[in-house]
Amino acid sequence: MAVGSLVSPGDHMTSIAELYALQETDLALAADRSMLADVRSRLGDNDELSSAQQLVSERETDLRAAGKHFKEQEYEADELRQKIEPVEKKIYSGTVQNPKELADLQMELESLKRRRNGLEDKALVAMDAQEEAQTALDEARAELSSADAAYLADQTELQEQQTGLESNIAMLEARRELQAGQVEGSLLKLYDQIAVNHNGRAVAKIEGGACQGCRLTLPQNVIQRARGRGNLVQCSSCERILYLS
Ligand SMILES: [Zn+2]
Repeated sequence: MAVGSLVSPGDHMTSIAELYALQETDLALAADRSMLADVRSRLGDNDELSSAQQLVSERETDLRAAGKHFKEQEYEADELRQKIEPVEKKIYSGTVQNPKELADLQMELESLKRRRNGLEDKALVAMDAQEEAQTALDEARAELSSADAAYLADQTELQEQQTGLESNIAMLEARRELQAGQVEGSLLKLYDQIAVNHNGRAVAKIEGGACQGCRLTLPQNVIQRARGRGNLVQCSSCERILYLS
């Protein structure tokens, strides 16, 4: 196959430079549309904020449970203190004369005190747990507050980006329409076909004697032909339309 086969010989009213300019517009459009899609997908995305809110609500539940547990322990310890008081009074009042009865009372008092001490220890542990739960909640609330601020700032910036991209795209679309209107129908069709296969790059510059699309070194006669305004020359390797600036 001959390098640089001439697909459509004759006079092309459109210069390849104009086609190349159209491609620049198309590439810019594709880039902006892809950015816009990304920006839109991030607008209203509040995953981080929701998980910070979720954490606060879990920590609130934890704190309520810890507070309840502490109150229960305190209540039980109080109950025992109230039981101890009358026994102590009885022992030290001197009204109990019977040594056996007195010894029994002493034993009861010691047993009650042991239980009270155990409960007081538990109440202390429960109080510590409550304090820890409060600290964890405070931290989660601080995180939520900064997540909230970050979300707001993020969304504001995304809104601005969206507006900017939308207006840029509208401008590029208008330019594209003008540019495409100046390209001959069959050439535009060819351009579109090649663009599909080459990620939007249907036109390749010739630089250093090579096709910049596929790096193939081009024969001199091909380069000569590409030099002529309106000459449609394609790369024999990648099929791209060659453009010599
Ligand atoms: Zn090529």
